[in-house]
Amino acid sequence: MPCSPSPCDLCRHPSPMALGRVQGRPMSQCPACRQIVVNPSHWPTRVQEKTRYDLHDNRWDNPGYREYLGNIAGHFRSFINQPCRVLDFGSGPESVLARLLRQSGQDAVAYDPLYNLPLPPATPPFDAIILCEVFEHLRDLNSELLLIRQSLAPNGLLYLRTELLTPGQLPATWWYMNDPTHLRFLCPESLIFLARRLNLEVRQTDHRKWALLGPLQCEIKN
Ligand SMILES: [Zn+2]
Repeated sequence: MPCSPSPCDLCRHPSPMALGRVQGRPMSQCPACRQIVVNPSHWPTRVQEKTRYDLHDNRWDNPGYREYLGNIAGHFRSFINQPCRVLDFGSGPESVLARLLRQSGQDAVAYDPLYNLPLPPATPPFDAIILCEVFEHLRDLNSELLLIRQSLAPNGLLYLRTELLTPGQLPATWWYMNDPTHLRFLCPESLIFLARRLNLEVRQTDHRKWALLGPLQCEIKN
C-alpha cells in the first residue's frame, strides 16, 4: 500500500497509508491514530463548502434543528453541575446551540469565522469548548487545535460530536463519507491521540458519535 506524502496532522506519524478512492474521493489513513483524511486536492473550495452549508436549515426558527441541538445541549449539561463559560466552536450562522445553553444558565458564546462570528475574548479561558459536527470539516488541524488549546482553561472540558468509524463499518458504505464537506474522520481509537494533542484525556465516549475530553474545570457528575 503506498504512503501518503504528508505526515498525519493528528499524531504526526510520518506515513499515512493511501486507501485509494473511497466513495469517489482519494483518502489516506494513519496507521497509528487511524484518522482518515480526504486528499486535500479533493477538498471543496470555501465557496463550494458554504454553498453546501447554506442548504441546511440550521436556524433558530427551525423547530427540528432546535430540538436536535436541544438534545445535544442536554447531554452536554449532564456532565456539569455548575454554570460554565462555554464556547460553541463552529456554531453555524445563528449560534443556536449557544442560545439554548444560555437559556439553561450557561455563559455560552459562539464562534464561526465562516459566518463572521469572531472568536470571543478567551480571557478568562473557557471552561468548556463544544465541537458539534465540526471536527470532520476542519482544514488546518494544527492551527485549529492550537486555537482550541489556547482558548480552553488548563483543566477545561472538550465536548466533541463527530461520527466515529466503528469496527465493522466499511468506509465504502459509510454514509458519513458521502458529504463533500467532510474532510476527516476519526475512529474510536483516534480519540486518545486527539486528547493528547490538547493535553487532555478521554473521559467518556460512546465509541460512536460523542466524546468528552478532560480534565474538567467543571466537576463531572457521578
Ligand atoms: Zn495519525
